[in-house]
Amino acid sequence: PPLQFSSLHATILYMPIKVLSETVAARIAAGEVVERPASVVKELVENSLDAGATRVEIDIVDGGQKRIRIQDNGCGIPREEATLAFKRHATSKLETATDLERIATLGFRGEALASIASVSRVTCTTRHVDEKVGTRLRLEGGKLVSNTAIGRPPGTEMVIEDLFYNVPARRKFLRTERTERRHIDAFLTRYAIAYPEIAFRVTQNGHEVLATSGSGDPQAALIAVYGMDLGGSLLEIAPETTAEQPIQVRGFVGPTTVHRANRGYITLFINGRWVEDLRLTYAVIQAYHTLLPTKRYPVAFVEVTMPPGEVDVNVHPAKTEVRFRDGDAAFRAVQRAVRATVIEQAPAAAAWEPGAEHAEQAEDASQPQGNAALRSKLSQLQPQGRQIEFDTARPARQAAGAAAADQPGAAQAEGERPALSGSTSSLPPLRVIGQAASMFIIAEGPDGLYLIDQHAAHERILYEQMTARWATGDVPAQPLLEPQSVTLAPDESDQLEALLPTLHALGIEVEAFGPNTFLVRALPAPLPDLDANKLLIDLAGSIEAGAEAPSPIRTALEEQVVRHICKRAAVKAGQVLSTEEMKRLIHDLERTENPRTCPHGRPTILQISTTQLARQFGRTE
Ligand code: ADP
Ligand code: MG
Repeated sequence: PPLQFSSLHATILYMPIKVLSETVAARIAAGEVVERPASVVKELVENSLDAGATRVEIDIVDGGQKRIRIQDNGCGIPREEATLAFKRHATSKLETATDLERIATLGFRGEALASIASVSRVTCTTRHVDEKVGTRLRLEGGKLVSNTAIGRPPGTEMVIEDLFYNVPARRKFLRTERTERRHIDAFLTRYAIAYPEIAFRVTQNGHEVLATSGSGDPQAALIAVYGMDLGGSLLEIAPETTAEQPIQVRGFVGPTTVHRANRGYITLFINGRWVEDLRLTYAVIQAYHTLLPTKRYPVAFVEVTMPPGEVDVNVHPAKTEVRFRDGDAAFRAVQRAVRATVIEQAPAAAAWEPGAEHAEQAEDASQPQGNAALRSKLSQLQPQGRQIEFDTARPARQAAGAAAADQPGAAQAEGERPALSGSTSSLPPLRVIGQAASMFIIAEGPDGLYLIDQHAAHERILYEQMTARWATGDVPAQPLLEPQSVTLAPDESDQLEALLPTLHALGIEVEAFGPNTFLVRALPAPLPDLDANKLLIDLAGSIEAGAEAPSPIRTALEEQVVRHICKRAAVKAGQVLSTEEMKRLIHDLERTENPRTCPHGRPTILQISTTQLARQFGRTE
């Protein structure tokens, strides 16, 4: 069952609003609450949840700078107390310093309304459930402008206009409308998932971007936010793992086949509050140890509940950080619950082995099924680091070193490892010998053996082809027979929308279709194997539009997008290649300007010279 925080709140809903005593106020973590429009949205939505609302509507205009409107059907504010609510340190949620030790509400500092009102124009319309008459207050820059009695249904509507109108310095620091929107959406989507029993409806500039039903079904909320593909694929954390514990862990986590380029998809809630906690984030990542490819992060939505006395939320002004009485216990509980879920519920074959990430694709790319087992066995041969260590080389080296440490040969021991060749020189002519681990091409050249990482090499080839075509403005788009649809979370949609012109210039035609859904209509003609779905998810998750970095071609942003495209279009590790395909790949690699590294800077090729081979076989003459 979903968390029932509103029931916890019921006990304090009818406490009158009072200004906290100086001593209590002094113990409250002080600091600025209102940094940007998203902080206003956060504080107001938290107030609505604390008021026991089951329906919350949020309308944002112009990234929240022009207007933020939040309407709820909560308990409302009594007419007598309405003006008090806008005083600093006025709260109905707390009275004594001991209350601070077991906070069960999202708010408790009595500062938000005062802070918000001081930097904007506020219209607060509210009616308390037990009263017949409602109240409308207008405040400008914190000063009460009018106070009228009005009729309205129980609940509260807050309209915040012209944020920071009287603080130009603050206004200057606001980012673009898009960025502010993204912050707001990122916050709201998380709360929509954590509170499935509450119906959220969000509009941005009049367009609905998120709506949850309030049915109480967390998976339905996940799907409303993330779309069917991602939301529907997540596994529910097995409740029995922490049923008897004081620390309970609930939520949803991705199977091992689902992963992302950054940690942004790990969301943590502690006692109904979204927090950013590095240690618990790490506990989630740890739970996937060895199950995900390196540098990839899980998707997880984890809710931890514990007695309020076990966790101090009075640490950070924005209340997004907490301190645990027993941090280790929290870490263990999260790590264990997530790990158990991932391991038990994920089909055994889905556990990631090098190359398995793309195993499904490789399979339907007309591969004999029998390869799968072989592939997974072979894939365990993957070297750990960049350089191959030959086991047999070690004893030999040690023996040589022990026997005659000052011999010239011994000093070269380090150099005996297969060399990582420099990245500037071109390739010698190579003859393909075969493929190892469905990942590496083995070739012979004028000076020894060459191992080529097929994926990295192909990425390099595509990257140079693509940038060359692009430089001449000639990336032909190939229309798809059937457009592919991709659904993203609202904040990602904003991100992707910003990239659409760049994608268009690269031959990828994507159009917005419905609130958070996009249709891919065409792909670059040279890249028929591009997985558009995965590409768009990568881009939305890892590219910050406007990010700056030095780059040889046009802009850093475009260069990043090209690299992502090449990564997604390149042959995968785990794909069995025919001799013809391998020859073709080597041939194309020879024609690149920088054949020795992939666009991400990893080596494409390792060389073991004939001399090294001879030496390691003890042929030292
Ligand atoms: P806090 O939430 O820390 O108590 P706020 O400044 O956010 O402080 O709000 C002050 C008080 O105003 C709250 O304690 C609550 O009694 C009342 N209040 C604010 N928003 C609402 C709302 N949407 N519904 C009912 N009461 C509200
Ligand atoms: Mg509050």
